[in-house]
Amino acid sequence: MSYDVLVIGGGPAGLSAALNVRARGRSVLVVSNPMEENPLWRAEKVDNYLGLPGMSGPQLLTALRRHAEEAGVEFRTGKVLNAVRMGDTWYVSIESDMENAKAIVLAAGVARGKKFPGEAEFLGRGVSYCATCDGMLYRGRPVAVLGYSDTARKEAEFLQGIGCSVTYFDRPRRCTITGGDQVEAVTCDGETVPVAGVFLLRPTMAPTDLFPGLAVENGYVTVDRKMATSLPGVFAAGDCTGGPLQVSKAAGEGLVAGQSAAGYAAEIWRKTNP
Ligand SMILES: Cc1cc2nc3c(=O)[nH]c(=O)nc-3n(C[C@H](O)[C@H](O)[C@H](O)COP(=O)(O)OP(=O)(O)OC[C@H]3O[C@@H](n4cnc5c(N)ncnc54)[C@H](O)[C@@H]3O)c2cc1C
Repeated sequence: MSYDVLVIGGGPAGLSAALNVRARGRSVLVVSNPMEENPLWRAEKVDNYLGLPGMSGPQLLTALRRHAEEAGVEFRTGKVLNAVRMGDTWYVSIESDMENAKAIVLAAGVARGKKFPGEAEFLGRGVSYCATCDGMLYRGRPVAVLGYSDTARKEAEFLQGIGCSVTYFDRPRRCTITGGDQVEAVTCDGETVPVAGVFLLRPTMAPTDLFPGLAVENGYVTVDRKMATSLPGVFAAGDCTGGPLQVSKAAGEGLVAGQSAAGYAAEIWRKTNP
């Protein structure tokens, strides 16, 4: 299905954006990792969100999501790998699947951690960010999974199930990927394993990996007052645009980004349906 707006990230910024797209009568899909993997899920108590003191992170997130669902926002659980624009449409890869929309709101939170040595060099030559997309290429061969979430464990089980011999590194801190034309080994926290493939399963990806060419400053997405980024039809909100890294700021920016994205989608619609 084609949407007016696709939101990447189901935290406070993404949910606020989606709610405000619906308020303008437009269709919207939120694509995100499972809610339990959102950073706010770990907050024992959120005391500085106006009007709702004392709620736990899970309580607040559940309430925000319910509000969005009741407004008609559609949801899909999964990891967005990248997005490309063709004509007036953005095509978004979600693991081995695809969705499209006229406008995007990037609300993916903060991507923590730097790339490992060898990661960029061997991307597509043994390094992958998606087990279900690329797993079959490594059937019957040794692979390493560098996992940072419960979802990553499930992806490792999937690889095992299709016949890969899997070494699982649980939240490794220091890794180096080496090889020649293709990956040959990975060393994580002092342990070296010969492998044909390395699956790097972080919950978040750098904004510039999702959108090549996107303007960023110190790792944060550059936006204007309408939360427009440097790319046509792409708006951003929340922690991914910079500090303060707080729920109220995320929700406020989400509102602006949602309204701007809905307006952008309406313009495209008018252009293509004169
Ligand atoms: C322990 C803890 C306590 C906190 N306490 C407070 C507090 O008391 N008050 C306060 O104001 N703030 C608090 N914060 C900060 C608050 O959680 C963040 O500021 C807020 O969640 C940011 O919202 P966001 O929507 O921008 O990003 P996030 O909430 O990070 O949401 C982004 C979502 O997008 C998902 N995502 C990212 N990339 C992809 C992708 N490629 N594909 C699919 N999904 C993706 C992520 O998994 C995540 O679920 C706390 C944070 C932590 C960790």
